[in-house]
Amino acid sequence: MTASMQDHQLRVPQLLEHAARHHGTTEIVTAWSDTTVTRRTWVELAGDARRLAQALEHLGIGRGDRVATLAMNHAPHLIAWFGAIGMGAIVHTLNPRLIDEQLIYIVNHAADRVLFYDGAFEALVDRLRDRWPTIEHFIRIDGTGSGSLADLIAAQDGQYDWSEGDEREPCMLCYTSGTTGAPKGVLYTHRSTVLHAMAAVAPSMFDLSAAAVILPIVPMFHAAGWGLPFAAAIAGAKLVLCSTNEPALLARAMADEAVTHSAGVPTVWLSLLACADTTDAFPQALRHVSIGGSAAPSSMIARFEAAGVRVAHIWGMTETSPLGTMGQRPAAWPTMDEDERLSLTSRQGKPPFGIELALVDDAGASLPHDGVTPGRLRVRGPWVIRRYFAAESDVADSDGWFDTGDVAIMHLDGTMQITDRAKDMIKSGGEWISSVDLENAAIGCPGVAEAAAIGAIHPKWGERPILLVVRRPASAVTSGEIRDHLQSHVAKWWLPDEIIFVAELPHTATGKILKSALRDRYAGSLANA
Ligand code: AMP
Repeated sequence: MTASMQDHQLRVPQLLEHAARHHGTTEIVTAWSDTTVTRRTWVELAGDARRLAQALEHLGIGRGDRVATLAMNHAPHLIAWFGAIGMGAIVHTLNPRLIDEQLIYIVNHAADRVLFYDGAFEALVDRLRDRWPTIEHFIRIDGTGSGSLADLIAAQDGQYDWSEGDEREPCMLCYTSGTTGAPKGVLYTHRSTVLHAMAAVAPSMFDLSAAAVILPIVPMFHAAGWGLPFAAAIAGAKLVLCSTNEPALLARAMADEAVTHSAGVPTVWLSLLACADTTDAFPQALRHVSIGGSAAPSSMIARFEAAGVRVAHIWGMTETSPLGTMGQRPAAWPTMDEDERLSLTSRQGKPPFGIELALVDDAGASLPHDGVTPGRLRVRGPWVIRRYFAAESDVADSDGWFDTGDVAIMHLDGTMQITDRAKDMIKSGGEWISSVDLENAAIGCPGVAEAAAIGAIHPKWGERPILLVVRRPASAVTSGEIRDHLQSHVAKWWLPDEIIFVAELPHTATGKILKSALRDRYAGSLANA
């Protein structure tokens, strides 16, 4: 039988065309670290992206070539994305917070041919230039000097038709260092990117529409900025990009641009809330905040909800594009009491249509979704990884299931709750202690700014939890006070054997607490207990 419906390929440039045609005058605002602000519309951005696609063709870049970016969040970065993807190349976002050795490995592994970079990373680029032999063109992405992105696009007329092809062609490459061993590349396709963006706009997900003003705090180099620039194009939302994560700059942009939606990791929200506390200025228009990348502490959720902001907890991975699950309000929300609401919002939520979740034991046998049994979380769906870039075999099994390395519980209402990362759990006397729960409870104690729980090797129990704490400025909170606070939140045997105050905690390039560094340093601290 002949197909009765059209067989349109899903390609990323269509997102930009849609925004330019139907939301053409809506703005993309960049708040720069020097406090200047620049504005473009979706129509202007589409024109610049076409000119950049032409310029890349003139440089001899072709379909499937890797075009790297080493840049923060701003409109020229988005032009580089759409321009390079629009001419058939693959955008490879580099995380500038990685160490030199990782950046050398990743660029060579990807065989990047072009690098667009921020002036702020000039010293890094100069240092590594000779170690990146595949890169033929180093192009300043911000600024207007000779050979810069602005210079390149000024020389083109924009008469360009986006490259067409199969929706399964790759369009973006993001490396993850969250796994063991060398960083691994996750290669998104046009199809996976468009489907992910279509899912992300829903009210039950990021809740985007033409009335939204979204400021993605999450960097564009982290899992394609959680796909938010693409979702904003579908929704025709106003996009506000900040070129640093400095809390005062973010707070100002939120106020000046009347930002309604924002998304980022808990660490950034902690500093933004601390800034709002000291300046007494909470962003007034804010009504939807997505928190993910690590578990959101319930004290943070409560703080936002008290200010009338809906918190959507998002769980995902670079390997899942990243949207895996998101917190959603059930029909019974108005009748739920505060504690019920908080406990529900603290869970990681439900998947959008297309994503499936399963729990298995260490041998791979299915576990029940009964609200009590924790298991290894598996995921599959159209925007979930099958194989790492240039790998020789699939990472997903023959049924498509990808093992996340997270440990979760599935509740009877269909919500998922992460209880730990498999490797971060603390095993004491054969029983598991959740480092996540300990940390969240500790952060709820007045005077505690940040906390990390790790398992220290213990002669009797195998491991016992210890807690590293960063005090809030001017706070003199004591270990006794923290212990008293914890006692009302966790089982007695979960209480840390030691509470150590530190000036700061180490973080990964994506803002998560670097547990491996803490384990290296403190795992032996109870050896003589
Ligand atoms: P990445 O690929 O760097 O984004 O890291 C993905 C990992 O971050 C996941 O496998 C989880 O361990 C963790 N993660 C992400 N979102 C959450 C969340 N909402 N709650 C708890 N852990 C999370």
